[in-house]
Amino acid sequence: MGCGVTARKAELAANLQQVRARIDRAAAGRTVPELIVVTKYFPASDVAALAELGVRDVGENRDQEASAKAAELSAQAGSPAADLRWHFIGQLQTNKAKSVVRYAHAVHSVDRAPLVAALSKAMLAEQERRRDAGLPARADLVCLVQVDLENRPSHDRPRSAPGRGGASPDEVPGLAGLIDAADGLVLGGLMAVAPLGADPAEAFGRLAGYAGELRRSHPGATMMSAGMSQDLEAAVAAGATHLRVGSDVLGDRPAVG
Ligand SMILES: *Cc1c(COP(=O)(O)O)cnc(C)c1O
Repeated sequence: MGCGVTARKAELAANLQQVRARIDRAAAGRTVPELIVVTKYFPASDVAALAELGVRDVGENRDQEASAKAAELSAQAGSPAADLRWHFIGQLQTNKAKSVVRYAHAVHSVDRAPLVAALSKAMLAEQERRRDAGLPARADLVCLVQVDLENRPSHDRPRSAPGRGGASPDEVPGLAGLIDAADGLVLGGLMAVAPLGADPAEAFGRLAGYAGELRRSHPGATMMSAGMSQDLEAAVAAGATHLRVGSDVLGDRPAVG
């Protein structure tokens, strides 16, 4: 290990400590939410360092990048990085379902019926593949419905804005029912990103309302995935159970495209 690795690990440790302190402060006696560290655009070596620092859950938003990192790290048998749980948090094309189910513990960005069908089919094939290969069985894929918190009609929602898609609130019960009924999938709860320029406390308050409604019909769907670097305090206050924090742990993402 060169000193570059050690310096980076120390930087990650310090950032992680600061983020955890913010979360603890915001929780102020409430249950402390789970931290998912979003590692998109950062190398597998950073993910490995985070695992050594005690991180158990990481988030990624592009299948190609995530599958490569997960394959590399899961091959390091016996290292903490081999036991990471991978959360897929980005917009997902149905033709990527087959790849995602190979490494993902959870998909936070389920926003339409065809994706539920694709993930279910892919999970059944993956379970069969593992059986045939003599690999240990894997648990069902945890699926969260991503809710669009922008107040706009569903025909007006962009499908292309990265990380800012989602189903409209009135579509949530239907999608949740489909996930709940699908083989290989388990309904985790809801996920959202606060709309740009909006008050995150207000947006996450609405999300908490939808999450409460969902729990009335699906008591097991307890997850509320909300809060990023800039708005994690508002998410904790609103009752988020899972935070997705990237840049405040890893630093500014390299500019892309
Ligand atoms: C990138 C991303 C995050 C993390 O955002 P930061 O501002 O880097 O903390 C969280 N959620 C989603 C859906 C993302 O795409």
